[in-house]
Amino acid sequence: MKKTTDVAVVGGGLGGLAAAAMLARGGRRVTLFEKSRHLGGRAHTTEVEGYHFNLGPHALYLGGAAARVLGRLGVPVRGRSPRGEGGFALRRGRLHALPAGAVSLLMTDLLGAAGKLELGRVLTGLRRVDAATLEGMSLREWLDAHVSRAEVREVVAAFFRVSTYCADADALAADAAVAQLQMATRQGVLYVDGGWSELVGALAATARAAGVEVVTSARVELVERDVGASLPRARGLRLADGTEYEAGAVVVAGAPRDVASLLPGDEVLAGWAAEAEPVKAASLEVGLSRLPRPRALLALGVDRPWYASVHSAWARLAPEGGAMVHVAKYLGGGDAEASESELEGVLDMLQPGWREHVVTRRFLPGLTVMNALPAKKKGLAGRPGPVVEHVRGLYVVGDWVGPEGMLADASLASAETVARLLRGEAGARAA
Ligand SMILES: Cc1cc2nc3c(=O)[nH]c(=O)nc-3n(C[C@H](O)[C@H](O)[C@H](O)COP(=O)(O)OP(=O)(O)OC[C@H]3O[C@@H](n4cnc5c(N)ncnc54)[C@H](O)[C@@H]3O)c2cc1C
Repeated sequence: MKKTTDVAVVGGGLGGLAAAAMLARGGRRVTLFEKSRHLGGRAHTTEVEGYHFNLGPHALYLGGAAARVLGRLGVPVRGRSPRGEGGFALRRGRLHALPAGAVSLLMTDLLGAAGKLELGRVLTGLRRVDAATLEGMSLREWLDAHVSRAEVREVVAAFFRVSTYCADADALAADAAVAQLQMATRQGVLYVDGGWSELVGALAATARAAGVEVVTSARVELVERDVGASLPRARGLRLADGTEYEAGAVVVAGAPRDVASLLPGDEVLAGWAAEAEPVKAASLEVGLSRLPRPRALLALGVDRPWYASVHSAWARLAPEGGAMVHVAKYLGGGDAEASESELEGVLDMLQPGWREHVVTRRFLPGLTVMNALPAKKKGLAGRPGPVVEHVRGLYVVGDWVGPEGMLADASLASAETVARLLRGEAGARAA
């Protein structure tokens, strides 16, 4: 006999868990399936000898949808926001003070007087730009139109890179990039104590407390459809072990290719998967017994797409006296790969002598940061979902879905929309 549920959620990352928790709070019977043994997806944290490694550097945008949804669900978010001190711009192998505010802009030798004036003007002007008017424009086109000096353009592009994670300014939609940088500078970010698994754990506890049945090590292999009606309807799913569930609605909170593979033969979904241009990064994570240069906390590549940051300076991620350092290279835009030695070289510049203090380390050459960048032609408004118009009862959630935000913000914004729509539907049926 088939098992039944009101809503079947595929995927136990932040997006799936948040959607499930909100739906269950709204009175729906929810079953969530995660193929892995553990929940969290890309928000997973690994602990080694007291060092907490996120899957690459993770910052929660305090003005974004993820913070909003977690807040509404009562999920505690503990950590600290990085302040401006200890930041460097890295250009042609040299460190310069990072022009992150008025004082550092005056002091830095990264730019000459005219460049400083232009950078100040561009960053101030950026706050007033209406991002929604930039539809159809790439970030590169916006930079070319608004920043005249090449050396200033490099610096502004680096600020966009660190807040969007995208190195491909030609492909990235300007509306998404500008909105993201505006939010990042206005409200700032937070590094989470203990890593993002703390958010996952609290979210999973919230979901279970609301009544969600969470099934791990359960790979969904098919979304079942009724194809008799004018529009097909999702009516349940089948797990890899053969178990079948009947459901009133199915929410897939995975990558575009996961969605396409669950509904084979669906050309629209196959098209979404084919069009998605993933945003990738290489990541070197290092747990040190101490920092050789305790005041050097951040390096941002200006001529190269590099990032190095001591997250443990702000959040509890390392044992007392130790340091957790993230080094990353934003891939794309002509830089399709990174070697471990390249990233080691970045850390050599920020923390010379770090190798003598290594307790634990990990190199991951090609992480998927975002399943799809908001593309130039379509912008945020042109992203797919969360409603899958041509399959009734099917919804998608993820960092490639819907008109709001990037990264985890897009996942949780789309989760919120799906929960609102499905709760509304239940209310309408009950009335
Ligand atoms: C290096 C790096 C840095 C990042 N930095 C930031 C940052 O600073 N700020 C930020 O906001 N975001 C950041 N992100 C992005 C953030 O981690 C993701 O946006 C977020 O975790 C995505 O959550 P999700 O639930 O949408 O997807 P995922 O975490 O990918 O979860 C999808 C889940 O679905 C499961 N699944 C897929 N198919 C099936 C199936 N058939 N059956 C069962 N289960 C299935 C998968 O196993 C997975 O657990 C970063 C990501 C990376 C990799």
